[in-house]
Amino acid sequence: MKLFISVDMEGISGVTDWEDVEKGTKDYDYYRNLMTEDVNAAIEGALEAGVTEIVVNDSHDTMRNLVVDRLHPKAQLIRGFIKPLCMMEGIDESFDMAFFIGYHSMAGAERAILNHTLSDKAVQRIRINGREIGEAGINAAIAGAFGVPVVLVTGDSQTAAEVEREISGVYTVAVKEGIGMFTARCLHPQISRQMIREKAAEAVRNRHKVQPVKPLDHYEIEVEFKYASSAQLVSFLPGMTLVDGKTIRFQAEDIRKAMPVLLAVLLLGDVKKLA
Ligand code: ZN
Repeated sequence: MKLFISVDMEGISGVTDWEDVEKGTKDYDYYRNLMTEDVNAAIEGALEAGVTEIVVNDSHDTMRNLVVDRLHPKAQLIRGFIKPLCMMEGIDESFDMAFFIGYHSMAGAERAILNHTLSDKAVQRIRINGREIGEAGINAAIAGAFGVPVVLVTGDSQTAAEVEREISGVYTVAVKEGIGMFTARCLHPQISRQMIREKAAEAVRNRHKVQPVKPLDHYEIEVEFKYASSAQLVSFLPGMTLVDGKTIRFQAEDIRKAMPVLLAVLLLGDVKKLA
């Protein structure tokens, strides 16, 4: 039985600030250990419930955050940046289920820790077929295109509520309650890890109760940037339409084909000189 895990950092136990999750800051090394421990708790729970094979995709920023030799030895790790499916690289139809660990809410969510959608610097919001969507929603749609259900998501309480609206029946663990963008009331990591372990086992055992997100016939993806200069530059590419000063739109038949385009669009729109 195979499990895919995508791990972000903003929704890890105890994390409340950009400094906690940015390579090179004084506190980062401490929090990358907490990140590794939250993932290990999920892995232990999954193994207890019968999972035999695990692939973990480090999905935050440089995508080189997890402490390699402290990660549970049963898991294989996908590490490094620029991968076509981004936070979902490594998933395919051979997996039985997916977990999202340490996730955060979509850009603009109220009182949600470090909320953003894929790029905090460049992106105001992302819409698919006119509906605003966050990272968990986009990534669950990618898993769904492979027929894989997302059965467990961990993060702050706002993220848990967001994914429960997106994925019917998903198991969630809220490791903290957001008070503001940079402030939360946090469970002790020992307690949150225990909860993650228990919920992971429960989610694996009840995986058949959660349906994969159904693929749509067509995807119209809109990126509203924070700066008009980002949208203008991206609109120079073939297939991109400038919808208004700050928003571009492109079309895709399959979310798995849309993701690499979206990644390239966001990187291009994130050039510092543009802001
Ligand atoms: Zn992140």
